[in-house]
Amino acid sequence: MRISTAALRQSDARMFTLVVEGLKAAGTRTAERCFTIPFSQMQATLRMINQQGGRLLSVTPADQASAAPTPEPASIAANAAPSPVTTPVKHEAVPVNLYKPKDPYIGTVLGNYSLLAEGAIGRVNHITFDLSEGNLHYVEGQSIGIIPDGVDSNGKPNKLRLYSIASTRHGDNLEAKTVSLCVRQLQYEKDGETINGVCSTFLCDIEPGAKVKITGPVGKEMLLPPDEDANVIMLATGTGIAPMRAYLRRMFDPGERAKNPGYQFRGKAWLIMGVPTTPNLLYEEDLQSYLSEFPDNFRYTKAISREQQNPSGGRMYIQDRVAEHGDEIFTMIEDPKTHVYMCGLRGMEPGIDEAMSKAAESKGLNWSELRPQLKKADRWHVETY
Ligand SMILES: Cc1cc2nc3c(=O)[nH]c(=O)nc-3n(C[C@H](O)[C@H](O)[C@H](O)COP(=O)(O)OP(=O)(O)OC[C@H]3O[C@@H](n4cnc5c(N)ncnc54)[C@H](O)[C@@H]3O)c2cc1C
Repeated sequence: MRISTAALRQSDARMFTLVVEGLKAAGTRTAERCFTIPFSQMQATLRMINQQGGRLLSVTPADQASAAPTPEPASIAANAAPSPVTTPVKHEAVPVNLYKPKDPYIGTVLGNYSLLAEGAIGRVNHITFDLSEGNLHYVEGQSIGIIPDGVDSNGKPNKLRLYSIASTRHGDNLEAKTVSLCVRQLQYEKDGETINGVCSTFLCDIEPGAKVKITGPVGKEMLLPPDEDANVIMLATGTGIAPMRAYLRRMFDPGERAKNPGYQFRGKAWLIMGVPTTPNLLYEEDLQSYLSEFPDNFRYTKAISREQQNPSGGRMYIQDRVAEHGDEIFTMIEDPKTHVYMCGLRGMEPGIDEAMSKAAESKGLNWSELRPQLKKADRWHVETY
């Protein structure tokens, strides 16, 4: 490698933007891609570029990256293509634990509105926090922690709860200074009394202008592959749509696409979404606009349990949709470019596993053998709670 990093050794905390071409991911080469990383991750990123046969075009301090970078030739030998089934996807540097519970980021609430239509069951809100002070940043698929005000039943300060980030790294207003969540208020009955979840109620009730303790970001399980030609199957129930909303915005929102010259999604994205009733569908307007703008790239299948029937006459759950489309899902999974994401309530896992087992069997495959292989290759992603 002929890249001198001497000029960059000013401070490990400084951010740099690397422009790379020809990265090989899942068998295809990408055009140009940008990585913005702290100097401390420079060596690891250069190694990843080398491993994926990429060619580094420039290294620029991040604050100068918007000015046209002068290409700095650097040849990196192209390596052999990674094995599609067993080689994990190489991701860009991912920020983790920038703010810890002892010294959380204090975010101001910018907005809090219901995502539900009239007649829906429960409460689900979209809540946005301002991040313009400090250095809290994240990528799609990560979560943040929220420490609700007040004390627990032992008189100790409330502990943090995790929430999947529902916005892209650029935030809903594309200025990279906000983070949004999709929160369902937990409510259950105990001894004839309605119990409200501490943090979810705190968030659903919160008013614009309020200050909230935020930690993180955390999580590397649900990262999107950098490959613009990947196929992404998303299985979501309820607020499990949060990370998928971020992926789909990154893939299809016109403002997002303009912000990401290195990520112009061209693969197939298929969202299979489970909710109890039609008014409980989340982000429906956005999803419909992606369907009309990108009909060849986006597919959207709904399982509306209290309104639709499965083939046995019972309620239509997400696993029934997975079973119905098992053949197509497996044909896609046979393609090494296909990644599957599952997010939502933990109870969705056994049903989906069963549906996948049956679909695998009909193709002569063994799901309990295949799933760990897909997991190892970073193609099977689960975050349930
Ligand atoms: C990685 C991750 C991502 C998450 N993302 C999201 C998200 O995007 N959106 C979202 O809304 N939530 C999400 N959650 C869940 C979230 O962290 C909280 O667990 C949830 O909001 C409930 O917290 P709470 O403080 O309101 O409830 P708490 O006051 O903490 O109450 C929860 C407790 O109530 C009890 N309980 C719950 N249900 C019942 C019942 N039916 N009967 C009896 N007892 C019961 C259990 O003991 C449970 O531990 C995520 C969790 C994880 C781990």
